[in-house]
Amino acid sequence: MTLLKLDNVCQRYPIGQKGWFGKPAQELKAVTKISLSLNEGETIAIVGESGCGKSTLGRMVALLEAPAEGTVELAGVKTAGLKGEALKALRRKLGLVFQDPYSALNPRMPVSELVGEPLDVYNVGDKASRKAKVIDALIAVGLSEDALDRYPHEFSGGQRQRICIARALVLEPSLIIADEPLSALDVSVQSQVLNLFAELQRERNLSFFFISHDMAVVDYLADTIVVMYLGQIVEQAPRDAFFANPAHPYSQALLAAVPEVGRGKRKRGLSLQGDVPSPIDPPSGCAFHPRCAKATDRCQSEAPKALMYGGDEKHIVACHFPSEVIDAKKFDCKEATV
Ligand code: SF4
Repeated sequence: MTLLKLDNVCQRYPIGQKGWFGKPAQELKAVTKISLSLNEGETIAIVGESGCGKSTLGRMVALLEAPAEGTVELAGVKTAGLKGEALKALRRKLGLVFQDPYSALNPRMPVSELVGEPLDVYNVGDKASRKAKVIDALIAVGLSEDALDRYPHEFSGGQRQRICIARALVLEPSLIIADEPLSALDVSVQSQVLNLFAELQRERNLSFFFISHDMAVVDYLADTIVVMYLGQIVEQAPRDAFFANPAHPYSQALLAAVPEVGRGKRKRGLSLQGDVPSPIDPPSGCAFHPRCAKATDRCQSEAPKALMYGGDEKHIVACHFPSEVIDAKKFDCKEATV
């Protein structure tokens, strides 16, 4: 069953002083026409370099900001215009895990209050039942009751992230939005937290909206991979199809940077040159063309449409010349319906 649906979601931010008629001098296009959906119990991974718009997208999914255009639908409820109790009730279905477990936890609060705070906000049960829920959440993330009266500085980075996850779980959400939740942790701790996410998903049928720049991590966790570049989706595919046949030159370049990941076919990947251009003044045509080794004149003037790749309606790529890895006779690019 579909838990989350985004339809043509856009986000823009005004830049600089407003001029005549209240119009901003410039506009930063953070996210442009994103459509995707996520089923219950599944994980969608949003990947791309810094500045590609993945965190902005995450904030809209987390209902922390409303899109400038398009619709966000969570558990069958359209979020546009929701306020007060209706918005609060929908937010209860969400748990948030951020990148830095050091700044995410108030150092002056004991773990009992840090994890129990969402229960207070939603006025769930009495004092005894709240304490029981906090203990349950701590046990679910591999900590114990002993942690209740301790403070964040008494824990390691990995344990702090477990406390953050316990806080995200305590209201029993349907969807966890995790924004680079492993990048501040040591590699050995990363794998423990990753295993914890997988275990929690199995046990609780949780869905994950997982934002990461790390292909190895998403290979382990994701059901669907969404690659973003300058605020747009350039490729979207089920995990196995993506790692077996990444079609977009940008996806290939991201994968080429992590040679141990993949299914062996993608070593032809192009290396990534230069920096991400400014989203205030994005390149014409295909936004990736200044960095793409396959770019032609057409790429400079014409933005590519979303195509169905290799006859697979779930594998979408926005490129005039996607990967030639698939046998040319079998190659089948039709315009996608999404
Ligand atoms: Fe490269 Fe052209 Fe494809 Fe853009 S449309 S990714 S520039 S080949």
